[in-house]
Amino acid sequence: MGTIHDARMKLRGELEAPAWARRFGSGWISGVLGLVLGLGGFLLVLSLLAPGWFSLPELHSLHDNPWFRFGLHAILITAFFLSTVSLALRPGKILGTCGVALAVLAAVLGGSQTTAVVNGKAPMFLGLDFFVLRILFTGFLFIPLERIFSQRDDQSIFRSEWREDLFYFLVSSLLVQVLTFLTFIPAKSLLVITPLTDLRAWVAQLPFVVQFVAIMILTDIVQYWLHRAFHRIPFLWRFHAVHHSARSMDWMAGARMHFLEILALRSTTVIPMYVLGFSAPAMNTYIFVVYLYSTFVHANLSWRFPVVEKFLVTPRFHHWHHGIEREAIDVNFAIHFPLLDRIFGTYFLPKDKWPQGYGIDGHPVPLGYIPQLKYPFQKPKS
Ligand SMILES: [Zn+2]
Ligand SMILES: [Zn+2]
Repeated sequence: MGTIHDARMKLRGELEAPAWARRFGSGWISGVLGLVLGLGGFLLVLSLLAPGWFSLPELHSLHDNPWFRFGLHAILITAFFLSTVSLALRPGKILGTCGVALAVLAAVLGGSQTTAVVNGKAPMFLGLDFFVLRILFTGFLFIPLERIFSQRDDQSIFRSEWREDLFYFLVSSLLVQVLTFLTFIPAKSLLVITPLTDLRAWVAQLPFVVQFVAIMILTDIVQYWLHRAFHRIPFLWRFHAVHHSARSMDWMAGARMHFLEILALRSTTVIPMYVLGFSAPAMNTYIFVVYLYSTFVHANLSWRFPVVEKFLVTPRFHHWHHGIEREAIDVNFAIHFPLLDRIFGTYFLPKDKWPQGYGIDGHPVPLGYIPQLKYPFQKPKS
C-alpha cells in the first residue's frame, strides 16, 4: 500500500510541478499528454471489453466504425511515443513510466482490435467511454485556448482543487444513465397531462434556427429564476454553495455541482423544451451547445467582447457571478442573455474589471466530493 501511495503522491507532485519544471523541453508536456492519452486509451479498451457495463448505448455504433478504431490506435501509439520522449527528457520518470505502462496494458488487452469478452448487459451501465471522450474533446478544445488567452497567467492546468473538479466530471459522466432517466421524469409526466397537441405540431415544424433560439430564450428564463431561488432560499443555497465554492475558474470548474442541483436544474430546464414539442434535432443541438457554453463561461479566458458582452453571457460576466467581492453577491444569474439580469435588476459588470478572486467569503464548504454531497444536509455552523 505504501508504494502505491508514494507513487500516487509522486505523480501528483509531477502534475502540479512549478512553472520552471513544466517548461518546454523538460519532458512535462510530453509526459502529461502521454499519461492522459494512455489512461484514456486504456479506459476505452475497458469499455470495449464489457460494453454492456462501461459504454453508453449511443456510442455502441462507434465501436464498428473503422475511424473510431483508427483513432484508438493513434491514441495508444501517441501515448507510447510521447511517454518515451518524456522518459528521455525528464529526470523524474513517473509520468513517462505510467504513460508507457497504460499504453502497453491497453495493447495487451487487445488495443484497437479489442472485442467484447463480457457480452451481457449490466442492470445499470457506467458511461466510462462517455467520460473519456468528453474529457478529451473538452480538454483539447479549451486547454490550448486557456494557455493562449488566459485571464490568470499564473494558473496552471493542475491548479488547486483540480482533482475534486475532475471527480465531478467523472461522476456525472459515469452516472449519465441515472441522470438522464431522472431528468426527464417531470417533463414526461407533464407531457401526458398537457393537452397541447396542436401547439406542439406547430412548434415542431418551425425552422430549426427559430426553434433553437426559442429554446435558448425559454430555458434561460426558467433557469434565471431557478438560479435566483438557489441563491435566495437558504436551504437551496446550501446546495448551490457547492458550485460557488470553486476558488479557481477554468474549463473544469463548472462541473462542480451538487448531484441534486444538477437534477433540479436539468429537469426544470427540459420542461419547456419537451412540453412545447420542440424537435429532437433542435433539443439535442441545444443540449450540446449549452454544455460547451457553460464550460466556456467558466473558462480561464481573458477574451473581451465589448459588443457581444451586451447581448450574450461571456466569461467575464459569469466570473463576476463567482466573484469573492461583496458587489458580486447575487448578481448575473443568466446563463445566455444578460438582458434578463438588466430587466430584473441583478446586472453587474464593471467596465474592464475582473473579480479579485472566486468562492464564498470565509469558504464554508468543505473540500472533496463526499463532504460536499453531505454539506447541504448538515447543520449550518453559526
Ligand atoms: Zn450561482
Ligand atoms: Zn458557475
